[in-house]
Amino acid sequence: MRAFTYARAATPADAIGAAGRLIAGGTNLLDLMKLEVETPDRLLDVNHIGLDEIAPDGDGLRVGALVRNADLAADDRVRRDWPLLSRALLAGASGQIRNRATTGGNLMQRTRCPYFYDLAAACNKRDPGTGCDALAGKNRNHAILGASDRCIATYPGDMAVALTALDAVVEIEGAGGTRRVPVGDFRRLPGDTPERDTVLEPGDLIRAVTLPAPTGGRQVYRKVRDRRSYAFALVSVAVDVTVTGGSITRAALALGGIAPRPWRDPAAEALLVGRSPDAAGFAAAADAILQGARGWGENDFKIPLARRTIIAALAEATGTDVRTAA
Ligand SMILES: Cc1cc2nc3c(=O)[nH]c(=O)nc-3n(C[C@H](O)[C@H](O)[C@H](O)COP(=O)(O)OP(=O)(O)OC[C@H]3O[C@@H](n4cnc5c(N)ncnc54)[C@H](O)[C@@H]3O)c2cc1C
Ligand code: SF4
Repeated sequence: MRAFTYARAATPADAIGAAGRLIAGGTNLLDLMKLEVETPDRLLDVNHIGLDEIAPDGDGLRVGALVRNADLAADDRVRRDWPLLSRALLAGASGQIRNRATTGGNLMQRTRCPYFYDLAAACNKRDPGTGCDALAGKNRNHAILGASDRCIATYPGDMAVALTALDAVVEIEGAGGTRRVPVGDFRRLPGDTPERDTVLEPGDLIRAVTLPAPTGGRQVYRKVRDRRSYAFALVSVAVDVTVTGGSITRAALALGGIAPRPWRDPAAEALLVGRSPDAAGFAAAADAILQGARGWGENDFKIPLARRTIIAALAEATGTDVRTAA
């Protein structure tokens, strides 16, 4: 690990526009520093600046950036009105990591592409212009949507997938003031600049995430992974759906593990609205979401897996039997 200086911020103002790298729970950044994938020369600890409360926000909820993942998952209001978020958080990492990991840090966590962590490998995200060893390499965990020929890495987290389905918004403060970005737009698609993961600018501080009023819909988080716990998603699906009088009146659906950011497709959601919950409708929505999907060899299996997981999550949320569906 390279030498670095360490300082503690006392207030959010100390952290906005500050030089160096912010550190919160440290569960991602310290690993990257030990491997010398990231080599900041200054760390600014934001653990003592407040922003660690979950508070009502109109009919919604405002979650400070320093709220720990474990506390957010256990909050009574979250468990009652946004259970999708609680389930997604509890499906991530381990109890010990969730006790440290923060809301802001979780949104910012970096990809789990093995070449990104291997300093001997070509990786445009770590070292722009060097190439991408994953394109023809070990790409089992990689993206089937939203990738570019510069980078096919996924965003690996769970929390942001649930937040995207719930229409949550990230509150960011920087030199130009405060701005609000939907969680689904917070992470960038790689295009020609995969080194930039998010829309944050240098000196920006994530202050909070806000959840709008609960929809009252049925919420499901389904995560498919190699092990039952302590593993990142191969595919995950977050669903918040309302069925009234036998018809779907509202559907929100976000996918994780398959793209550089939580993936949402409003046109596919619209296909569900107005129909009764049934296997054919779920399959049509899944096919619409996966229309432009492509595999890169080892991850080809994710396309049918994502299709099955979308159908299963919609079936669970609506109480529909799809066992005989194609
Ligand atoms: C073994 C292991 C398994 C895991 N499994 C999962 C999993 O299954 N699902 C999942 O979702 N996650 C998983 N994680 C990831 C974990 O959830 C993240 O490491 C964690 O959420 C990061 O939060 P942190 O506070 O520790 O961030 P840090 O490591 O402190 O920081 C991460 C990044 O965020 C930036 N940052 C932090 N706070 C702010 C802020 N307020 N404003 C601006 N920038 C900020 C930092 O500068 C840094 O770049 C796993 C991690 C490990 C180590
Ligand atoms: S997929 Fe992205 S992170 Fe992985 S090697 Fe290629 S450029 Fe690097």
